[in-house]
Amino acid sequence: MGQAMTDAPAPPLKLFNSLTRRLEIFEPVHPGVPGDPANPPEARVYSCGPTVYNYPHIGNMRAYVFADTLGRTLSFKGYKLTHVINITDVGHLTDDADAGEDKLEKAAAEKAQSIWDIARHYTEAYWADVKALNIRQPAHWSIATDYVPQMIEFAKAIADKHCYELDSGLYFDTSTVADYGRLARHATDEGESRIDPVDGKRHPADFAIWRKTPSGEKRQMEWDSPWGKGAPGWHLECSVMSEALLGFPFDIHTGGIDHREIHHPNEIAQNQAHSCSADSGARIWMHNNFLVERSGKMSKSSGEFLRVQLLIDKGYHPLAYRLMCLQAHYRSELEFSWEGLGAALTRLKRMVMGVASARQVTDKNPHGNVPDDIREGFDREISNDLGTPAALAIMEVMLGRSDLGSVRLSLLEEMDQIFGLDLLKLTRADLRIRPKAATITEAEIEAILIRRKEARAAKDFATSDKLRDELIAAGVEVMDGDPLGWDWRLEA
Ligand SMILES: [Zn+2]
Repeated sequence: MGQAMTDAPAPPLKLFNSLTRRLEIFEPVHPGVPGDPANPPEARVYSCGPTVYNYPHIGNMRAYVFADTLGRTLSFKGYKLTHVINITDVGHLTDDADAGEDKLEKAAAEKAQSIWDIARHYTEAYWADVKALNIRQPAHWSIATDYVPQMIEFAKAIADKHCYELDSGLYFDTSTVADYGRLARHATDEGESRIDPVDGKRHPADFAIWRKTPSGEKRQMEWDSPWGKGAPGWHLECSVMSEALLGFPFDIHTGGIDHREIHHPNEIAQNQAHSCSADSGARIWMHNNFLVERSGKMSKSSGEFLRVQLLIDKGYHPLAYRLMCLQAHYRSELEFSWEGLGAALTRLKRMVMGVASARQVTDKNPHGNVPDDIREGFDREISNDLGTPAALAIMEVMLGRSDLGSVRLSLLEEMDQIFGLDLLKLTRADLRIRPKAATITEAEIEAILIRRKEARAAKDFATSDKLRDELIAAGVEVMDGDPLGWDWRLEA
C-alpha cells in the first residue's frame, strides 16, 4: 500500500524502542522474498491485553487504539501483519508485583459469581469497546487459561537454573539473568520500592511464576503442577503466549507505559532464561503513555466510571475519542476533559463535512493530479514513529483543497486506513450529540424547528421565542448561524 502511494521510494518505518531508548528502523524478523507477492515481509506484534475483572477505563483503551494504529501502519507499509492481544483471565494480582490478591478471584468473591462468568462478562465488555473504537480484530485473542499446560512446561524448563520454591510459590531469581530491568527507567529505586516483601524472597524484584493455592484453601481457578495446586503468574502468561503464537523472537511487543517497569522486565527475564540467551524476545518494545485527567472531577465526585459506554451515554460518538487519542502522539501524555472530547468531536464533524463537499464535486478527472508532496508528506509523518498528529493535519489540508477535486476521496480512503475514523461512512447525523437521558426525540426537535422557521418567516417573534424556550427546556441548544451548519444540539 505504501508503495502504491508514490513513485518515490517509501520512507523506512522508524519506531521508538523502549529497550534502546531510541528510534530504530523497523527490520522484520521474517523479511520475506523481495518482489515475491506470495512471500511478503511479515510483522508479528504482541500486545498485552486486559485483565478481565472490571470494565476497561478509557485510559486502558488508549493502549489498544495505539496498538491498532501501529498494526494499521504496518499493513499500510506493506507488511503482512499477525497481531496477538491476550486476555488475562487468571493470575493478575491487585498489585503488579507479588502483593495482593488475584484480581479475578477477588471480583468473583465480591460479586458472589463464578470467576468464569466474570471473565466472560468483562471480556465481552472489552470487545464491545474494541468494536466501538473501530479497533481491527487481531489475528488471535489469546486467552490465558487456554495455555496453562504450556506455562507449566515453560516453568519446568527454567525452574532448576533460574527459580526457587517458597511456601507461596515458585519464584524467579532475577539475579540469574544479565541486565535484569534494563527496560525499566528506575529498576533499582522506583521499581523496587513498589514491591511489597514476600517472606523468603532472595531479591525484592524476584517474582512468582507459579503461585500455590494456600493449604486448606480452594481457588475457583487452580491447576496441578510439579509445585502443587496453583495458578500461573501474570508475567509467565505473556512470555508463553507470545512465543506460542508468534515464535521467538518476534517483531514488536506493545503495552501501556506502566508495563515498562515490572511486567515487561519480568517477561524479558523469563525469555532470556528460557532461550538461554540475552534475547529479550521481541526486537522492539513499544509503550504508550498515560491518559491523565487533571481536574479529578469526572470519575470521583460524580461516581461515574470513565469508560467508553459513558461517553456514548453522554451522547458522544466513540470515534471522537479515537480521534482524541490520535491527536496526541502515543508517547505523550493525553489529557482527558469533556471540553477536549467536545473539541475532538467538532474536528471530526469538520472532516465529515469536508468529505461531503468533496463528494459534491463532479469533475471528470477522479484520478487527476495529486501533488507528490501530499502523499510523501503523509507517509513520512506516519513512518516517523507513528506521527499521527502531523499526519491528521496533512489530511485536513488535503481535504480543504478544492483544486484537487474528487481525487480527495481516494486519498482520504488511503489515509483513513491508518486513522480508522470511518470517514467515508460517517454522516453528520451520526455525530450529533445524543445523550441517552434525552427526553425529546430528533423528530420532535425537527418538527419544532420547522414551526419556528415558519414563525420567523412570518415575523411572529413571540411564537418563535416561545418555541426556542421549549427546546431549551428540553435540553436542546438552537445553533443559529453555526459555522458548521448544525442547526441544534442536545446538551450532554
Ligand atoms: Zn503482558
